[in-house]
Amino acid sequence: MYKTLRQISKNKKYDVIIVGSGPAGLAILDSLKDSSKRILVLEAGFKSFEEISQEIYSGETSGYPHGDIYLWRKRQLGGSSNCWGGGFIPFDEIDFLIESNGKKLWPITLEELKPFYKEAGIFYGVGDYYSIKNFPKIFKKEIPNIRQSYVLVNEKEKRFRFRIENIMNSSKNIDFCLQANVTDISFLKDNNRIEYLVVEDYSGLKKNLYADKYIIACGGIESTRLLLNWAEKYKHLDQIKNNLGHYYSPHINLNCGKIITSPNQILSTEYVNLTDEISCQGFFSYSFKQQEQNIYLNSKWHLLRESLKFSTKEYLKYIITGNMSYKQNIREITNKDKKVNRLLLDYLSANNETGEIYDLNICFDQTPTYSSSIKLTDKKDRFNLKRINLDFQISKDDIQKMKNTCTKVASLVGLKGIGRINIGDIDSYIQENELGFSHHTGTIRMSSDKSLGCVDKDLKIFGIDNLWVCSSAVFPTPSQASPTYTIMALAKRLSKNIKNEN
Ligand SMILES: Cc1cc2nc3c(=O)[nH]c(=O)nc-3n(C[C@H](O)[C@H](O)[C@H](O)COP(=O)(O)OP(=O)(O)OC[C@H]3O[C@@H](n4cnc5c(N)ncnc54)[C@H](O)[C@@H]3O)c2cc1C
Repeated sequence: MYKTLRQISKNKKYDVIIVGSGPAGLAILDSLKDSSKRILVLEAGFKSFEEISQEIYSGETSGYPHGDIYLWRKRQLGGSSNCWGGGFIPFDEIDFLIESNGKKLWPITLEELKPFYKEAGIFYGVGDYYSIKNFPKIFKKEIPNIRQSYVLVNEKEKRFRFRIENIMNSSKNIDFCLQANVTDISFLKDNNRIEYLVVEDYSGLKKNLYADKYIIACGGIESTRLLLNWAEKYKHLDQIKNNLGHYYSPHINLNCGKIITSPNQILSTEYVNLTDEISCQGFFSYSFKQQEQNIYLNSKWHLLRESLKFSTKEYLKYIITGNMSYKQNIREITNKDKKVNRLLLDYLSANNETGEIYDLNICFDQTPTYSSSIKLTDKKDRFNLKRINLDFQISKDDIQKMKNTCTKVASLVGLKGIGRINIGDIDSYIQENELGFSHHTGTIRMSSDKSLGCVDKDLKIFGIDNLWVCSSAVFPTPSQASPTYTIMALAKRLSKNIKNEN
């Protein structure tokens, strides 16, 4: 089923080349499989983890603490879906309304994306997200301005590489090549079209491969690194240079609060099975209005029964091997921390001995911050491409907005008699703990204005006629939601456009 680079004819011209076989690349492949297009998928990795491929992801980080970029993504068939949590959450309407200098940052709306969320949900195996009615709620009482929502997981099959066989069986027009690293591009003379991609395997074999259209789906950081390397060489990318690599956000993640609840206020905090295949977990958000965006940040709040304090080192076991269930792993880690919980429980529940204590996990949106960026360093990988430094920055305004949001949520929960929220010291927390890991957004952002972004609303690179990018890097803002559902909805939307183009 899979080919090597040696088996791919350099004389064949494809209609579409998809670079990368993570959730983005495979969602596109799934949509194009029943078209008459001749498609080539180029995947840099092997069928499973191999250090020779993963090593290419090594790089540096600076600024606010951030997870190691070698660890928190996978360069292999199926991409980071080999180790992801599998949680599917769509973006909120408010995410698409965010403005900067009076202009909306997202060039599309939630309504436009909804049909593609549906397609992506069906492909992932959780169906239509919006049709779920009986999702588990956290709070028994409704709280004004607090919205309860849910994340869906396909427990039966999270790994996208297992979907490839079905796709390949239903099409004769697809070539799928492993160990195929796209390292360079070449333009037609006096033209803004890419003529071919330069592709290299690990044995030193190098080939030029031709197509009409090219889609980069190499993940948020790696798609950016490739474009940054090419932008140093080719003036065709000059138009996007001002924005390329900037506005990085990892979808800020804090575990720095506690809630002690009054008796019988909490309905559900764990994943529950909706069907044999689909599980669902409740979360809540503060729903503020558009004009309040300068006060609050969109956020997602989970309650965790036991303290979810884990170091990257402990979590590694799961990430590297991927053979432990997420929940089992979390349980193992949290069991170690009971003593800390006990102390807090004693402290907070002096007047309320029957209450329960939970840790708070909060994911925050982030205001696009130019200085938060991915830049090339002088170190190079085996293919002579420059490695990167990821400099993660948060503005002071955003830190204040996080605090405002926490205070507001705490007061709403308290007023309703649900319990007391005790937010930790956010200033210290963000200096000392990794705040982002595996959700990499903003560095090739989409915009309706080419002076403000790198790709247009259809994900086509400004200034190049036949190059598209599909990844979380195109998100102008990261939202409170995890990225993959939206990446795949954009992939489905892009596929429709590609199918319809002559
Ligand atoms: C531990 C962990 C938990 C996560 N949990 C969640 C979650 O619960 N919910 C959620 O929404 N998201 C989650 N994520 C994030 C999610 O995995 C990513 O958003 C998703 O995998 C991105 O898909 P992608 O196809 O854009 O990129 P990737 O999955 O990164 O795939 C990119 C592919 O491109 C290939 N590639 C790279 N460079 C080249 C090249 N030069 N030539 C050819 N091929 C190349 C790579 O090998 C890879 O296969 C998690 C991630 C991690 C690491």
